[in-house]
Amino acid sequence: MIQSSLATTIDARSHVPLEGALPALGRAALFFDVDGTLLEIQPEPDDVVCDAELRALLEGLLTHCQGALALISGRSLDGIDRIFSPLKLTAVGLHGAEMRDAAGNVRRADPHIMDHARAAVRDFVETHDGLVLEDKGATLAVHYRKRPDLGAQALAFLLRFSPGDDLAVQEGKFVVELKPARYDKGSAIATLMRTPPFEGRTPDFFGDDLTDETGFAAINRIGGVSVRIGDAHVRTHAQYTLPDCASLRATLWRRLREARP
Ligand SMILES: [Mg+2]
Repeated sequence: MIQSSLATTIDARSHVPLEGALPALGRAALFFDVDGTLLEIQPEPDDVVCDAELRALLEGLLTHCQGALALISGRSLDGIDRIFSPLKLTAVGLHGAEMRDAAGNVRRADPHIMDHARAAVRDFVETHDGLVLEDKGATLAVHYRKRPDLGAQALAFLLRFSPGDDLAVQEGKFVVELKPARYDKGSAIATLMRTPPFEGRTPDFFGDDLTDETGFAAINRIGGVSVRIGDAHVRTHAQYTLPDCASLRATLWRRLREARP
């Protein structure tokens, strides 16, 4: 599990200022988590939508990094497209179980991988008032935002399905999720980095949650820059932290201004 691996991780945070560490956009590959990173988390996930300022920012970044920009989310590709429409970006969905590369090729994990767990998870959620099931096909997310006291119970229940090699449990902010074990954000970023236009560039990745830790670790291995959004005192693989979504946007706008002639 990610949490136990974090407990043995040395603090990877750098003392070089973030602004000096980020590669120039002309040679950078940019990877962003969505919720809690580019966009504030909302009580209802369907309420999250890309605002005009963020769209302009992404379009500017895309131009200056020659398209080497991807979203790396726990949402489905369809969910990502709903938020960012009319932009259709290179994206990884379901924590790595779905991927659309820069050429538009889509790969999705088989949703039948959840078939033996689906009915039992639905029953568990229906018998625990306040829990919400989000069935994303190849992953099953149990949200406990309205009942934080049920978080540990939901986690223990989902862990019953992951003793083998096929399924794993991903923890997040007020959510636990059953997902195919073979995919994670880190391996998805590494895969995209072997394809154009990402190949040969220096990557940076911005995320905020436990699911992003595999991404931070992968970025560190490749020699990129990993940045966690949120509390600076949390143990993380990320080399840098930024306090909130607004400070990330400000950093990106400064980067964009520096890239413009
Ligand atoms: Mg997030």
